[in-house]
Amino acid sequence: MYNYKKVKRISSNLFEDGNPRYIVSIDNHQELMRALTDFCKLMNIRCGQVRGIGAISEATFRMYDPATKQYVDKTFSEQMEITGITGNISKKDGEPYLHVHATCSRADYSCVGGHLLSARINGACELLVDKFGDTKVGRKFDEETGLYLYDF
Ligand code: FE
Repeated sequence: MYNYKKVKRISSNLFEDGNPRYIVSIDNHQELMRALTDFCKLMNIRCGQVRGIGAISEATFRMYDPATKQYVDKTFSEQMEITGITGNISKKDGEPYLHVHATCSRADYSCVGGHLLSARINGACELLVDKFGDTKVGRKFDEETGLYLYDF
């Protein structure tokens, strides 16, 4: 599903604290969000961040309309580059909660992007995952926005 290498944070990093950073390569044809969720479970990451790049054949984004509090999902089934993926990791109901956004470039060099629900790797997916030690950050439903916001 993935392979990885654990590296120690390097000095001069603002967050230098001995916490691990993982270089992660997700196997071809895997679903990115599922593989990343499984990785967070394996490493017991309760709070962290992720960023990276890759190539995919399909992506589903989710747009939230604050006015109606409804989600609209849209799938793009075409070869794209993940020009950037960035997100945070917390926990909700005992499970990893990944809040991930991505921008993907198409064959005509235009881009689509948004809140990422799923993506099928077709080529490579190279991520950096940071674990913030034993820090625990949860999620709590917020009535005003209709979203699960950080619960410190
Ligand atoms: Fe989002």
